[in-house]
Amino acid sequence: MTAAFTLDLEDHTGAYAPRGRHIDVARRILDWCDAQDIRGTVFVVGRLAASAPELVRELAARGHEVACHSWSHEPLGQLGPEGFRADTLRAKALLEDVAQHRVVGYRAPIFSLTRATPWAPDVLREAGFEYSSSVMPAPNPLHGFPEAPAHPFRWPSGLVELPCPVRRIGPLTVPYLGGVYLRYLPLRLVERWASRADGTVLWTYCHPYDFDADEPYTRIAGASTPTSVLLWLNRRGTWGRVGALAAGSRVTMAEVASRMQDLTTWSPSIS
Ligand SMILES: [Zn+2]
Repeated sequence: MTAAFTLDLEDHTGAYAPRGRHIDVARRILDWCDAQDIRGTVFVVGRLAASAPELVRELAARGHEVACHSWSHEPLGQLGPEGFRADTLRAKALLEDVAQHRVVGYRAPIFSLTRATPWAPDVLREAGFEYSSSVMPAPNPLHGFPEAPAHPFRWPSGLVELPCPVRRIGPLTVPYLGGVYLRYLPLRLVERWASRADGTVLWTYCHPYDFDADEPYTRIAGASTPTSVLLWLNRRGTWGRVGALAAGSRVTMAEVASRMQDLTTWSPSIS
């Protein structure tokens, strides 16, 4: 079992300083990817590409897919359909200009594509995206979409959705391949779940801060103090954990999505 590698490239402090800590950590992650023979997909926040275009150019030059992680990193429901369209088009245009390749993938901030944002898949398709990786098919205190399929599917607009990999255990649904879940769960358990997952596409998802064990405590933008502490601790093992799952992976999410031909069409209204 090898999972695809994805990174959500954002500044968790919300400052987006051109020489912020997140930039240095991202560069270390790129070097590490080369050492691990990993080529993957980086979902980049548009604001970050505006403040550090050379980093985005570099990750494209190193063979990674540059995909879109919104312009402002605001949840879709807060933007509304017109705000979402403007935010997305702005980010896509800049990312394509900087990366010098078409941007066909989108990941919603905090997996905020939910039942409350039924317009989002249509907007993404109209904007020229081919796939989305924006759905957390689980109950979640922030932005879950529990009734969505846990396997890849197609929205009525034609957009391919690659949902966040989850493991169902009784009443719980655990997005075990990324973020704090990957950092806190026993690696053996994660590997066992991944090896037994079928019918889904496995991908790891992390942020620069997940790898940054030396960062002094920092309040995460938009998060409570207990959540910020949870997100701050237990970072040292991230390199080894992601490496155990994704080393040698050379497939981008765009390549995964393009191979998906016979997908079931799904929307909340036809489920
Ligand atoms: Zn994000």
